Amino acid sequence: MGRVSLLNVDEIRGDFPIFSRQVGGRPLIYLDSAATSQRPRQVVEAVRRYYEEYNSNVHRGVYSISVEATEEYERARRKISRFINAKSEREVVFVRGTTEALNLVAYAWALRKLRKGDKILLTEMEHHSNIVPWQLIAQHTGAEINYIPFNRYDGKLELDKLDRYKDFKILSFTYASNVLGTINDAKRLVKYAHENNALAVIDAAQAVPHMRVDVQEIGCDFLAFSGHKMLGPTGIGVLYGRRELLEEMQPFMGGGEMIREVHLSHSTWNEVPWKFEAGTPNVAGAIGLGAAVDYLERIGMERIREHEESLTKHALDEFEKIKGMRIYGPLEAGERAGLIAFNVADIHAHDLATLLDEDGICVRAGHHCAMPIHTKLETPATTRASFYLYNTHEEIERLTESIKKAAKKFKIT
Ligand code: PLP
Repeated sequence: MGRVSLLNVDEIRGDFPIFSRQVGGRPLIYLDSAATSQRPRQVVEAVRRYYEEYNSNVHRGVYSISVEATEEYERARRKISRFINAKSEREVVFVRGTTEALNLVAYAWALRKLRKGDKILLTEMEHHSNIVPWQLIAQHTGAEINYIPFNRYDGKLELDKLDRYKDFKILSFTYASNVLGTINDAKRLVKYAHENNALAVIDAAQAVPHMRVDVQEIGCDFLAFSGHKMLGPTGIGVLYGRRELLEEMQPFMGGGEMIREVHLSHSTWNEVPWKFEAGTPNVAGAIGLGAAVDYLERIGMERIREHEESLTKHALDEFEKIKGMRIYGPLEAGERAGLIAFNVADIHAHDLATLLDEDGICVRAGHHCAMPIHTKLETPATTRASFYLYNTHEEIERLTESIKKAAKKFKIT
């Protein structure tokens, strides 16, 4: 099928050495970028250069390679700040990933501010990383958690019921669901939180890698994302926080780098964002993430989003023709992120994923760290195919063929 791609995908794929390998004698078809993306040569090269050419600790040395490492680490922060349109790089805290970023807000803000009976508002479509930290805080403080429901048929939040939720102190929600694919109306949810004098926190793990995200336009107070889902290294991520909030918060962890002075009786804190970066940070990771941001900027986030939308539409069109196919979430590609979770009749998701692997196709099967979504969908597991800038329309066709082959094996015809 000759579909015109909006990106020069062949050229992009040339930057990813992994795509030249074979799996079981077949070319690798990687459809699991929602779990972790692949890395282009440029990112690996930036990390290699750090380790081979100026490896040293940051912020401490007066010697030249340490100054260089510090400059590159802080330059990466500025790139990321521009990428999400933060007002200043002081609003970009390096953490390990989305999970740590959300825990940071939970422990450094909510644990200190919330009292018994205070309400935390989440949605039913959260990843465990945006549920469990709040449950821990609720256990500690006596706060209550309420969940905005989603409609199990179209996978969208029931925003017409939003005004039932009042007097909450914090609203934390996912920008794009890692199972349903639903892209939430972040601006509307943030506005609702602020009208209720609550803070708005966004889990943007599935958004920042795939679309233009502008924190000033959205108006959120905090936003979390992971480097490894956006072509960057593992073990590095970002918490964006409005500067006034970061300033007033207490540190999350104590130790080197986050201090100004330490006395035996007490300590004082460094300025933001370093106040939240205790210990030796992931210097290589931050520099690699800076290179990933350069790469994404060069291609253009609008074009990446259009390409993924076109792949998603193609997959939805093909999947609809497969007997026994059940797709979860919105059926319009424009309303969803580039990922599709599905089931085929009663084939177990793990069996299906194993059969697809025999054709060199990597998809994820299970609850995708979102058990409450699966409980509501009344299925223990789904198979999920997720797309990124390096995927092709031919791969969607190969995936469809492979699913049909698996269905035949299970005598679903
Ligand atoms: N939130 C969402 C929506 C995700 O998809 C993920 C990862 O799958 C996370 C949070 C957790 O990200 P990490 O494991 O990088 O901390």
